[in-house]
Amino acid sequence: MIKKFIFVVGGVMSSVGKGVTSSSISAILKSHGYKTTNIKCDMYVNIDAGTIRPTEHGEVFVGSDGIEADQDLGNYERFTLNTMSAENYITTGQVYQEVIRKERNLEYKGEDVEVVPDVPNEIIRRIKNAQKTSNAEITIIEFGGTIGEYQVLLFLEAARIMKIANPEDIAFVMVSYLPLPTYLGEMKTKPTQYAMRSLNTAGIQADFIVARGTKSLDDKRRQILAHTCNIKAGSVISAPDVKTIYEIPELYKKQNFDEKILETLGLESREKNKAPFEDLVKKIKSTKKIIKVGIVGKYFKTGDFTLIDSYISVIEAIKHGGWANNTNIDFMWIDAEKFEKDKNDFSEIDQCSAIVCPGGFGERGTAGVMRAIQHIRENNIPFLGICFGMQLACVEFAKNALKIKNATSAEFNPKSKDQIIHVNPTQTKNIKDNKYGGTMRLGSYKVEFAQESITQKAYNSPEASERHRHRYEFNNKYKYAIENAGMKIVGVNPETNLVEVVELANHPFFVGVQYHPEFKSHPENAHPLFKKLIEVGLKT
Ligand code: GLN
Repeated sequence: MIKKFIFVVGGVMSSVGKGVTSSSISAILKSHGYKTTNIKCDMYVNIDAGTIRPTEHGEVFVGSDGIEADQDLGNYERFTLNTMSAENYITTGQVYQEVIRKERNLEYKGEDVEVVPDVPNEIIRRIKNAQKTSNAEITIIEFGGTIGEYQVLLFLEAARIMKIANPEDIAFVMVSYLPLPTYLGEMKTKPTQYAMRSLNTAGIQADFIVARGTKSLDDKRRQILAHTCNIKAGSVISAPDVKTIYEIPELYKKQNFDEKILETLGLESREKNKAPFEDLVKKIKSTKKIIKVGIVGKYFKTGDFTLIDSYISVIEAIKHGGWANNTNIDFMWIDAEKFEKDKNDFSEIDQCSAIVCPGGFGERGTAGVMRAIQHIRENNIPFLGICFGMQLACVEFAKNALKIKNATSAEFNPKSKDQIIHVNPTQTKNIKDNKYGGTMRLGSYKVEFAQESITQKAYNSPEASERHRHRYEFNNKYKYAIENAGMKIVGVNPETNLVEVVELANHPFFVGVQYHPEFKSHPENAHPLFKKLIEVGLKT
């Protein structure tokens, strides 16, 4: 069986697009008939991304098996339609934890355990395990961070050892950034040259450079990079900023990046398919229809950049919903805390044709979110509340429609008698013992829908399997009261009777889901709830 590995590393700075590059490489190789998988290696000592703040690390992506991973796994799924699981996510924390566990179990048989080679060997074992689990012929491994960082060294060492053992089976791609200072008007190659030198000191020579920048790479700079970085000019791939990331596979194919990788790995094309997303990109570029969608959230503190990272799958899923309706999205970022200061200024919300209220944790900003939800509910604005958004919609409804003055969530007030959202008994001990890592209700669970509900009609199915990540949940004690007042429970988990979906009876589209539909939305196959939200938004 073919077992090839492509390492994707970053030069010059982080956030150059290694995730999209790795996803696109996987997608274009898949289009030649090869079975691929992707792995993300995060340099953090964290065991997973579950305990990291979204403004610190971006969204926590949840796999169907419940892995709480880096957001890049979301890109891998969206670009390749491959399902990611725990094996596809490796962190420094996992690696050290396993090495130490083995040492305690005498599995090193009395040898001293050394950082090198025992730590790189564990990294290699994990990479090979992910390949084996998914039966992939080509495995694309992305290293987080940037070459030259101290913490990436043991991962580079693992890659170097793999290359020595099987030189024909390993390729390296360095995704680098070429700054274009406005006062010069030309792209500068020197930082990339230094990055390649840095990679060389780790004993690795990249086979390809993906040259990221605001503009396309010109021939002069391509030659400079080839000469100074010791690679063929044809192995420097230009990757300018594009209108949509789904253009990138096509952009790579136009430069024969796919054929060149296959050649480097000694493979031949098995079938010739179009670049993934070609038709979609045409649609995105030609459509004139546009809809304004607001995201009312609380992870906005450090500007637009962080915002996009914190809610990346939600943002993508809204776009998919738009494209399914031949419409592009004009996003409006609405910081919920604003409604705590300007109590009656809902003008931003009123400009939007639909609102999404995404997941979150902790009390800060929630009074503002609930004020916004009340306005949305009373003014028939199409609304999708996700996880925390659903929980706050329930609390708001209990407070203002049911007149339970102190209605709250156990997350904010663990002693309250009016917990519309309470803590599942299985979670009480975790909270008491400070066991926060990997202990939420995670991963895929079944949800059954009520006949004739808006949600059931949107799915066009009596049930679905959706991904979860929460510790708190709707308190069934309030089921009858809330239903009598007009908020219907239209989705439950059949095993536990846990409330999964609520919707308002007298509203064009007001749906709250305890799960995260955004993780299962695909560019060419929008999640039914996002598709419906935009469809209704376009009509109202
Ligand atoms: N904080 C809430 C809970 O733990 C919601 C979580 C979320 O939005 N993912 O239940």
